[in-house]
Amino acid sequence: MRDEELIEAAKTAAAMAYAPYSKFRVGAVVLAADGSLFTGSNVENAAFPSTLCAEAVAIGSAVSSGVRKIDVIAVACLDGDQNCFPCGQCRQRMREFGTEKVIVTDKAGRTHRHDLSDLLPHSFGPEDLPSP
Ligand SMILES: [Zn+2]
Repeated sequence: MRDEELIEAAKTAAAMAYAPYSKFRVGAVVLAADGSLFTGSNVENAAFPSTLCAEAVAIGSAVSSGVRKIDVIAVACLDGDQNCFPCGQCRQRMREFGTEKVIVTDKAGRTHRHDLSDLLPHSFGPEDLPSP
């Protein structure tokens, strides 16, 4: 799947965001290793810490469908003037499932592609735990 198709899917997901408080709509799409796609959008909550990131929703959807390896995650922001890079927790969530590439794009279409290892250097992952 081409990066542009992933970006468009992320933008579509962002349009579905529930962001009544921040007005900052974010969408994410997961491309699993088997080629399947899963989308998510940010889901805010009046109790602010209960808010979910778009990436967390997309990853949760993929995992609940049996995905255990993610190749690419694309993230789109419809608001604000900057690309919205994944937060630290979402970078760690991506790491858990072996995400290789992260694409971010903003409302003007400025797109950046990164290896997750550049966004989360010296990371901790499943292989760092002792074998059972
Ligand atoms: Zn996040």
